[in-house]
Formats: sequence, C-alpha cells, structure tokens
Amino acid sequence: MYAYFRKLVYFSTECVFAPNAYRGHARMLLKDLEKVDPAVIMNIIQSGESLTINATANMPTLSRCTRCGYVSSQEVCKACVLLEGLNKGLPRLGIGKSSKVKRFMQENSPCCKTQSCLCNKK
Ligand SMILES: [Zn+2]
Repeated sequence: MYAYFRKLVYFSTECVFAPNAYRGHARMLLKDLEKVDPAVIMNIIQSGESLTINATANMPTLSRCTRCGYVSSQEVCKACVLLEGLNKGLPRLGIGKSSKVKRFMQENSPCCKTQSCLCNKK
C-alpha cells in the first residue's frame, strides 16, 4: 500500500508459499471467532497486554555472538549456526536439538580458548 500510494516502482506477486502459510489458518480462525463475538480480537489483545513474566522464571541474558558480534542470548547466534550448517552441508543443524548444535559449534569453533569448549584444539 505504501509503495502504491507513493507511486514507487514495485512488483506485487503473491509468494508461492503464502496459500499454505500457517498465519492464514490463524487469520481464518480469528475471522470465524469474530463472527461469533465481534469483541474477540480486542479480548485477545487485552489478554496479551495483561500477561506478566513469573519472577522465578529463568530469563536469558543478552550477550554478544562470538562470531559476528551481534546481540544474542547464546554464545553463537542463530544466524551464525544456520550459516555454519549451510556451509558444512548440514542444513538441519540450526533447527535440531540445541545440545547437538552446541557440541558441533564447539568442535568447529575457530577459537577454543573458552572454558566451555569441549574440543581437543586446546
Ligand atoms: Zn553470530
């Protein structure tokens, strides 16, 4: 809409994956619920705004990725893990169990001077 009203050059083709995207199912559910009760969307928003985090919950601490330097809650950020998986021919590396990812990244880390490193490069 922004590009249309600003008369910017753009192309508008629907993504080939859009018809089966999960958000389409969520949108249809919301529209069906809205037919039953028009206030359902406002009720969902109000519920979301009233959510609070349990004081005893273990929250991740923000740190920097050891490879790219961007903000991450892990030693190596998800983008670097996914890239490593693609470069090594292991596309499931970033979406598998986190313990396997951690072990793989430690074994293939260029710098093994961290205390948590388990590889034999020390
Ligand atoms: Zn990174």
